[in-house]
Amino acid sequence: MKQSDSKQAVFTLYGGINVIGGTKLYVQSGESEVLFDFGSTFAPGFGSFDTVLRPRPGREVDDYMALGIIPNLPKLYAGSKEGHDLPVFISHFHLDHVGLLFLLDPSVPIYMSEPSYQLYQQLEVIGEGIGQHDDIRVFTYGQWIEWKSLRVLPLEVDHDIQGATGFFVETLSGTIAYTGDFRGHGNHPDKTEAFFQYLGAHRTHALISEGTRAGEASGRHTVPEKDMAHMLAKTMENRSAVFFTLYHRNIERIAAFAAAAQAVSRKLVLTPATLHLFRTLAPVQYEQSRPAVYVCATQAAESLPSYLTGLDVQTVNAQELANDQTAFLVELPYEHLTELVDIQPHNGAIYIHSDGVPLGAYDPAYANVTNWLQTFGVDMVSVRSTGHADPAYLQACIEQANPDVLYATHTFHPEQMPAPHSGLLVVPHIGRNYPIAPISV
Ligand SMILES: [Zn+2]
Repeated sequence: MKQSDSKQAVFTLYGGINVIGGTKLYVQSGESEVLFDFGSTFAPGFGSFDTVLRPRPGREVDDYMALGIIPNLPKLYAGSKEGHDLPVFISHFHLDHVGLLFLLDPSVPIYMSEPSYQLYQQLEVIGEGIGQHDDIRVFTYGQWIEWKSLRVLPLEVDHDIQGATGFFVETLSGTIAYTGDFRGHGNHPDKTEAFFQYLGAHRTHALISEGTRAGEASGRHTVPEKDMAHMLAKTMENRSAVFFTLYHRNIERIAAFAAAAQAVSRKLVLTPATLHLFRTLAPVQYEQSRPAVYVCATQAAESLPSYLTGLDVQTVNAQELANDQTAFLVELPYEHLTELVDIQPHNGAIYIHSDGVPLGAYDPAYANVTNWLQTFGVDMVSVRSTGHADPAYLQACIEQANPDVLYATHTFHPEQMPAPHSGLLVVPHIGRNYPIAPISV
């Protein structure tokens, strides 16, 4: 009896229940332990810290752990007496999945896909990385990673960021799969479909799935990513100045703005950081569009960031935009709205909100944006394509995977996730162990 107990693999969720993001999935099989994702939860006004109340420098691990934001798994952190053989697998590079990686000891192995690694490297350059880490391991999709008493198979899925991955894990007592974040209306639906087909064909005992849009009306906000360029071009018709905000880790979206700019003969103008990501991660589209870089009044004094040094790139400032308002398509992120004071947009100007921050009215910053745009007579238009599965698509994926038990995570409405054929839908509890094993129904 004792022996069979030690062969019982279990999983535990730390974060990601009844919220969007912050998922940390711990799997233990025999002497093997692995973790999937190590993100932060973005919930302005509802969290434990904000821009004023910060974790103490040098004591971050203690402070986050005391609040239950990170798990009490000593192998993850500096000073561990048991070593650091607890690898962390990253599903993709959104902050709600990687935002707390900086807390790990630098020798904890971090596994990620090749496209995620490329993004990770460039995020370091622009100062949005995870900081110094000594053990980054890049996996190949479809190739098993053996980790003593378990093995992990990373498989591609489509999400609104490159390199998104779902995982299938074989343990001593059963199989468990983790979806990461996924959708079916991106540019690569075949990847997501192949992942769920694999789960269905290989008997998945426990499926940990994101369900961001569970409970929404189907189809309401599901705009295909491939329609973005066309929709953006149409939105700009008969407008004066056009500004936009996006999340610049979505390189395909930058490319859509570049294509739209070409279609309407406007010059694309990007922030230095977005221009760098576009140039290094989509070099072909970058060369085709040759965007300009926006120089803020504050930046002009400090000169451009060093990663743009020596680059043959046109610079544009507020005065030039003010003088020729219909000539440009300008990225103007939230923190640069003050530039409007110098640009003084003409009648008919618009601000295209395309999945940048602030994401929605739940963020107090949203009211600020509305106020700024109203003050300067700029209309806000939303042209976006979410990274998350439409509810009907989510249901089809769960049916395809056909798990013994579905565990609902990464959603405000876990109880509204579609149940699998077995009827077993579980809303897991934080920190509780669940067995990984076949269930006969
Ligand atoms: Zn994501």
